[in-house]
Parts: sequence; structure tokens; C-alpha cells
Amino acid sequence: MSWRVKITRITIKHLKSTLDPPFRAAWDPIPRHHFDASLVFVETDEGLTGVGSGDTMAGFEGFEHLFVGEDPMNMVRHVRILETLDFHAGRYWPLEAALWDIFGQVCGQPVATLFGGAERRLPAYASCGELKPPEERAESALALQEEGFRALKLRVDPRRVDKGMATVAAVREAVGSSMEIMVDLNQAWRMTGDTARSIDGAGARRIAERLREFDVFWLEEPLPISDLKGLGDVRRAGVRIAGGEMAATLSDLLDCMDADALDVYQPDVVLSLGMSRCRLVAEMAIQRNRHFTPHTWTNGLGLLANLHVAAGVGGGPYLEYPYDPPGWTPERRDFMLAEPLRPDADGCLAVPDLPGLGAVLDEDALRSLDVGAF
Ligand SMILES: [Mg+2]
Repeated sequence: MSWRVKITRITIKHLKSTLDPPFRAAWDPIPRHHFDASLVFVETDEGLTGVGSGDTMAGFEGFEHLFVGEDPMNMVRHVRILETLDFHAGRYWPLEAALWDIFGQVCGQPVATLFGGAERRLPAYASCGELKPPEERAESALALQEEGFRALKLRVDPRRVDKGMATVAAVREAVGSSMEIMVDLNQAWRMTGDTARSIDGAGARRIAERLREFDVFWLEEPLPISDLKGLGDVRRAGVRIAGGEMAATLSDLLDCMDADALDVYQPDVVLSLGMSRCRLVAEMAIQRNRHFTPHTWTNGLGLLANLHVAAGVGGGPYLEYPYDPPGWTPERRDFMLAEPLRPDADGCLAVPDLPGLGAVLDEDALRSLDVGAF
């Protein structure tokens, strides 16, 4: 195969998988009866196809000509074009993931190697998605520990702080010091149509002070990312602060760095900034002795893209692994993959030993769950 490859076609597949019983996400008042995924496929004249998924790719139709006929490996060009589309139309970062998938296949290397090859596997943290009563959550934490997880993330509803604290206390009592606990307040995260205001800085700081007692590893999104001063104040309560999963622009995160507002930078490579820019954020965070570990709450393909970037650049110390059985399982999350991604007995998620992103798709699911358009 020559090193000159040309993009010949870009197509998008919209899949819908049924969730019965529904999944009750802590951050969404409406139970989810189905789980949707958009997959973008980039085809080339050499017969290689790249695939990416994450954001919906809604409205991308009509922009294919910006890429078709180009060499998929001219990544700086593609990222700059995607940034212009991000400004005018939508976050088409799954397309960058598909391009990196091709890049890796052309080189015969996993994308993580192209991103630096710092690690081949990362400890996964079980990112719980549902609110459960304290006793039930403590039991689930013990089950996660049994499976090999060394860390888990709990949701606390900031409007029901006492209940959330009781859950954190029950989990800490159950697992002792054998597991790290992260807490997510989701205060920079709104469902469409939800105009509720976030809690204020004083409220967030009070929560952080209470959490210190339970030795939480980080407190995530205590405030919107625009409240740099407030985030800085919460940090001074003595708990690491995480955020940035939905950062709209690179400069949002550079502003956080200038204000030293976060300990843990979490842009999601298929929702926010894309893989190349997230790598830049990661390098800068690590150089400043802060952490980079991306948000990964999409699907198996999104998780793979984030895993490659995080492992390549040496992020961590834990990688988000959306998992909260029975509501959220690898089978539900990765329904488009032939085999769901699972951590090993050590609780680590390994970079697949395949070129590119290493995704093996479930062709039957691609056929039977294709809904044409949402
Ligand atoms: Mg979060």
C-alpha cells in the first residue's frame, strides 16, 4: 500500500438500541428507554475504513466535500477544518477519531502508540450513573471491588446533599481505604431545556468541606466551568476539583489553566475539542503537575478513542469506565461492538492489540438497529 491515501466517502449510520428496563441517569429526569449512537465511517481508495462515534454528527451532511479527496493523514488540516465546523455547525469530533483510526491502520499501529505510547493499559474507575440508596450503593461498591475495580465515581444530587453524603459515607465505610471514591455533582451539565441555575460557590465549598472527611479522590463539576473564581475557592477546601468534560473550546480550558481552577482536566475527545486538542490539553496539564483523564460517557467507540488518547499521552491515574449494573452494562454501552470492552482482573482497561482504534463492529447490530435518521 502506498503512503498516499485518499478519502473517497464519508457516511453516517444512526443506531437505536432498546433499554428495557430503562436506565435512570442521575443527571437526566427522564428515564432512558433507548440508547442512540451515531457512527461515522470514512472510506479510502486503499480499502481502509475508519470509524468513530460520540457526538451525534447531526447536520454534518453537506460538509463531506471538505474532506473527500484529501489525504486522511493530513491531520492538522482536518482538525482546523473541524474547528471551523465546530464554530458554525456542530461538534463533529467523531470524524477526527475515524481519521485517526485510518492513520493507525496505515501505520500498522494502535492510535495510542501514535499519541505517544506512554501506557498500554490504564486502571479503570467504575463510573456509576444512577442514584441508589446508601445501603444498595455500598453493596454495589463491594461488588465492583470484587470485580477488580480500584476506584468508583458516585453521583450526588446537589439539591439532596444529605442523601448524597449518606451514600458516600456508606460506601467509604463498606470499602474502607481499599478503593478511591470520586464524586460528581454535574453542575456544568444541563439537559436541553433545563435552565436551572447551578449551586453557588459557597454551597459548593460547603459540599467539598463535607466530602473531605470521606477522603474523596476528586469532586467533579461542583460549579460551571465559567465560574473560574468559584472553582478556585472550592479547590481551597482541600479536595481535588475535576471538570471540563463539555468544554466548548480550547481556550475554555486554557483559561482554567491560567486561573489554576482545576486539578483534573476531563475533556472528552469525541464530544469536546477532539483527540489532537485534548492531547495538547493533556500535555499542558501533566507539565503543570495536574491530571488529565477524559470523560468517556458515550459508547464503546467513544470509550476506545478516549482510551487511546489517555494511554498514549500517559493520562490517569484512572480512566472513566461507565458501568453501573444492572442499569448500565458493557452490553448496553457497547452494543455496536462484537465484544464489549471490559477491564482485566486487575481492573485495567488495555489498548487493543490492533492497528488504529482496534474496534471490531457487530455487523448484525449495525444492520438490525440502523434507524436511518433520528
Ligand atoms: Mg461528569
